[in-house]
Parts: sequence; structure tokens; C-alpha cells
Amino acid sequence: MRGQRQLQQIVPSEVCFSCDVCCRFLEPDSFLAPIFTEAEVKTAVEHGIAPDLFRPTADGKSAQITLKPHRDMYICPCFDPRTNECTIYPVRPLDCQIYPFALMVNEDQTQIVLGVDMLCPYGEAQIQTEPFQRYIDHIANYLESEPVVETIAANWSLIGPYQETVVVLRPLEKLSRALAHCRLKLA
Ligand code: SF4
Ligand code: SF4
Repeated sequence: MRGQRQLQQIVPSEVCFSCDVCCRFLEPDSFLAPIFTEAEVKTAVEHGIAPDLFRPTADGKSAQITLKPHRDMYICPCFDPRTNECTIYPVRPLDCQIYPFALMVNEDQTQIVLGVDMLCPYGEAQIQTEPFQRYIDHIANYLESEPVVETIAANWSLIGPYQETVVVLRPLEKLSRALAHCRLKLA
């Protein structure tokens, strides 16, 4: 994603360090396991993640990481449960960078929308605040910028299914247009 503008973070690090939602999953094959674009897989491997942990996705470009068992659940293999940190944080994939926001199809499968996951306690508590509403403009503009649309269109498995825990914020018009050709596959 050369030349893209910078995505700022909304959730303060100290909030995430004391939260146990991200990077942990209930099922070994959770569809919520992070998806890495082709370029992000390469970078993650350069940062020590084993290449055989990545499974190809439906778009034929991106890959989903294989989760590993940890206590009574499953964790991302990039996650260090001793420190509560992502071991590849500076190069973590877009899929993780945008959370608690989510890219998904809307309920009637006609558009790509931006949503915020109410499973994130920060998102749930802050959604109505002015800074959070301002951030929605920032992240929507970022996701609709030309290089990011291009990347997501090529790695369209990044678009998740409709989820009831995710509050729909707004349609993403450019992404919806760019992905119109594979809408049936997304559905
Ligand atoms: S769920 Fe929200 S607050 Fe918790 S770690 Fe994830 S982004 Fe941070
Ligand atoms: S890549 Fe990092 S931020 Fe993303 S799920 Fe894995 S440990 Fe968490």
C-alpha cells in the first residue's frame, strides 16, 4: 500500500493492555482470525512468523493465520500471552489495525459497510462521543483512499460477513463499487 495516508489509532494502548478480548478466539477455526494481505504475509514471515501458519483464503491472494490452543481458548500465534502484546505490532495487518472497526457486507449483502464491534468495551463505551465520531470520518477516509481500496479489492477476503455484534456506521461507496464484481462471492 505505497503512498497511503497514515491510519491513526483510537483505542489508547493502556486500555488494550488491560483488556482480554483481542487476539483470543473461542474456536480453532474462528472466521475472526486475522487475515493478512499478500504483502503482510511476507512482512510477518520476515518478522519471524512461520510461513506454514498462513492458509489461503477465497480471494486467492490473502491468507488467514492458523490459531493455536492456549488454556481453554485459541490465540493468534503472533500474540504473547505472557506480556499481552502482539509480537509483530508495528507490522500487524490492516485487519488488526482497524479493530474495533470492521469491514463487512451489510445485512442484505448489497454493500460494503464500516462498522464498530460492540464486543470491544472501548468502542461500546465511546461510540457516541465526539472524538469517536470524528475518528469514524478518519478511518472511513483512510479505507476509501485509492491505494487502500486497491489493496482491499485485491485481497477481498478482508471483507467479513455481516455480524450482529457490529453496529453499522456507514456504507463504503468506493469499496462497494470496486468489489461489485465479487459481491456474490462475498455473500
Ligand atoms: S477489544 Fe478493544 S479495548 Fe480490548 S484489546 Fe481489543 S481494541 Fe483494545
Ligand atoms: S497479528 Fe497481532 S494484533 Fe493481530 S490478532 Fe495476531 S497478535 Fe493480535
